[in-house]
Amino acid sequence: MRDVVILGSTGSIGTQALDVIASRRDQFRVVALTAGGCQLDLLAEQVRAFAPRFVAVPDAAVAPLRERLRGLEVEIAGDGGNETAARLPCDVVLNAITGAAGLLATLTTLEAGTTLALANKESLVIGGRLVTDAASPGQLVAVDSEHSAFAQALRAGRAEEVRRLVLTASGGPFRGRSRAELTDVTPEQAMAHPTWTMGRVITINSATLVNKGLELIEAALLYGVDYDAITVVVHPTSDVHSMVEYVDGSTIAQASPPDMRLPIALGLAWPDRVPGAAAAYDWSVPRSWSFEPLDADAFGAVEMARRAGKAAGTAPAVYNAANEVCVDAFCAGRIGFLGIVDTVGAVLDEHLAAGHVPDDALTVGAVLAADAWARERARAICGTA
Ligand code: NDP
Repeated sequence: MRDVVILGSTGSIGTQALDVIASRRDQFRVVALTAGGCQLDLLAEQVRAFAPRFVAVPDAAVAPLRERLRGLEVEIAGDGGNETAARLPCDVVLNAITGAAGLLATLTTLEAGTTLALANKESLVIGGRLVTDAASPGQLVAVDSEHSAFAQALRAGRAEEVRRLVLTASGGPFRGRSRAELTDVTPEQAMAHPTWTMGRVITINSATLVNKGLELIEAALLYGVDYDAITVVVHPTSDVHSMVEYVDGSTIAQASPPDMRLPIALGLAWPDRVPGAAAAYDWSVPRSWSFEPLDADAFGAVEMARRAGKAAGTAPAVYNAANEVCVDAFCAGRIGFLGIVDTVGAVLDEHLAAGHVPDDALTVGAVLAADAWARERARAICGTA
């Protein structure tokens, strides 16, 4: 039996994790749930169904949640509840919070010595070596499908035999469009992802390819591979979740029909597989998979992330924070689609010119300060200050 804490239980990853757990009650038990307080009915339903002993939401949502949970034996906490949950004795914490807000919970889980199943890639990207240094070998398990694919394909050889990581990207809803053809795309069009159903921020990030940029940094940090040894390739159907190329010319790919329950289940049970976690292919029907190079002119976010990742220190935090502000501004109709990555680039350039804190001087305070500065600069440029 594995005791599980889920941070961000009401989101796309959180609800799919609970699906996995519901089908494997003999294997997993829920110890705590946390959420952002926007979907209290769903959270209350989850508490009734999974009977955690601890649940947390921001302060403002505590009273209405308490009302919904009247009569149930569960401790209800407010602000700081993610960190309290991350410190509870358990086998694995799944961090499925969205955005930079997940950083402290990631660090708290690692400090507590608990295995961290990490969906919240932003916390690793912005925390950088603060997160990797805090993790003992095997403690940090990726939930992102691409990074789960790397972890699976890396079982096929030794670290010194790896030549290259090949990070696959669906290309998002605007694959094949030129930069000029991206000028007038709307938030509704950007939300229509061709292969995955996900939360709002990651869906917009998949349309701009900022998500692939974050994943590039995530891969370099998780697997200690040089940025120039990670290639992004477009693979529209999201069947091959990523690949590892070895020094002898062999490439090992991990493939499965797109379904996040597979990498979530593997993240919760790592290093074991969960039988029946997701459906496999039906090879009695014809299928073909294609790969194409990324159009770096139309989708500049990946090379921008490579630059931020190489600069390290506070640069990835700036890339992420400016993007979070721009996604909100785009969804609110304040900036155009191209304005997202253009603004992130402008804020990143400013930061690298002055104020950048390098890796060897990185602290949590420096990350949070860079995050706050980048949000302010992005809001000023977007006109949403
Ligand atoms: P969603 O927006 O669907 O869900 C986010 C969850 O976080 C919700 O439960 C939300 O609660 C909660 N939340 C927000 N702020 C806080 C907070 N301060 N404290 C506690 N909980 C909070 O996002 P996704 O599930 O799509 O993504 C979650 C993470 O997983 C992201 O980092 C994303 O990049 C990553 N990821 C997602 C994939 C996917 O398929 N969805 C695939 C790979 C990675 P509330 O409902 O109250 O707002």
